[in-house]
Amino acid sequence: MKLTELFSKKIPTLSFEVFPPKTSSNYDTVKCATSEIAKLKPDFMSVTCGAGGKTDVYTADIAASLSRDYGVTSIAHMTCVGTTKENAQKRIKELQELGIENILSLRGDIPEGFQIEKCDFKHACALTAFVKSISDMCVGGACYPECHPESANISEDIAHIKEKVDAGCDFLTTQMFFDNNIFYKYLCKLRDAGINVPVVAGIMPVTNASQIDRICRLSGTYLPSRFINIVDRFGSDPEAMKQAGIIYATEQIIDLLANGVNAIHVYSMNKPDVAAKIQSNLSHIIPSVKV
Ligand code: FAD
Repeated sequence: MKLTELFSKKIPTLSFEVFPPKTSSNYDTVKCATSEIAKLKPDFMSVTCGAGGKTDVYTADIAASLSRDYGVTSIAHMTCVGTTKENAQKRIKELQELGIENILSLRGDIPEGFQIEKCDFKHACALTAFVKSISDMCVGGACYPECHPESANISEDIAHIKEKVDAGCDFLTTQMFFDNNIFYKYLCKLRDAGINVPVVAGIMPVTNASQIDRICRLSGTYLPSRFINIVDRFGSDPEAMKQAGIIYATEQIIDLLANGVNAIHVYSMNKPDVAAKIQSNLSHIIPSVKV
């Protein structure tokens, strides 16, 4: 199913993101984790890819297995970094042959020393336009409630999001955020800029304290004091931190749903127990959830 069809129903949806193995040696572990999450029957699952195309074969394999073996609609991520027009065309054909109808079109983070200027696609909008020109794939893109770190300001960033949508992007998925008010203000700015595609809210359950440094370093995400207090108090107790992180994410989701945000995407990080707990916490709140 194309995700545009799902979003057009305007009902609450719960979906999970998983990542592929980096090498064949951890393939079985990852496959087992993604299968366990698929058994929860979420509305859809996204499968990330490593920048540079190194994991593309696993991304496609896992995305295909989710829909073929578990009946879960999947979306395969694809990046500009290291992708030529020729291999993008080949990749899209392969995904279509595997029955995958959705792509998340991304630029990817640029590895140190890598010259994106020399690539066929310098920005996600170019890859999006290319995918749309050669296929009828449903294409999503990334957006950043707290501004992409490379953009000078949020207005400039939103102008580029508009280019992405004008290039054919059917929906947007946000970077993680821990303060819903930031998301609500951002949503208003997108709508003011004439961006009217569905916006999927990306929620990261932080289940261990070591994730925090990485999150802040990579994305500059704002951590509200309520969240910092939880990490300070429970960060050294793994089970307590996990429980508190899941509850924090659940509360964020309930607030989003209560404020009319329908599409919730959980960065489940290949953790079936975390995905299952969040889903069961919402069993009466999201009607499609079956526990
Ligand atoms: P773009 O839309 O190209 O934007 C990148 C920067 O360039 C922004 O600052 C933007 O404002 C600016 N820009 C855009 N268009 C133009 C233009 N025409 N001219 C000048 N400037 C422009 N990375 C992975 O490697 N694999 C993944 O699977 C993956 N999944 C992700 C999923 C989500 C939901 C999100 C939010 C991010 C994901 N990322 C992934 C990370 C993403 O690749 C990085 O954040 C990357 O730095 C930007 O990607 P983008 O698609 O937003 O790029």
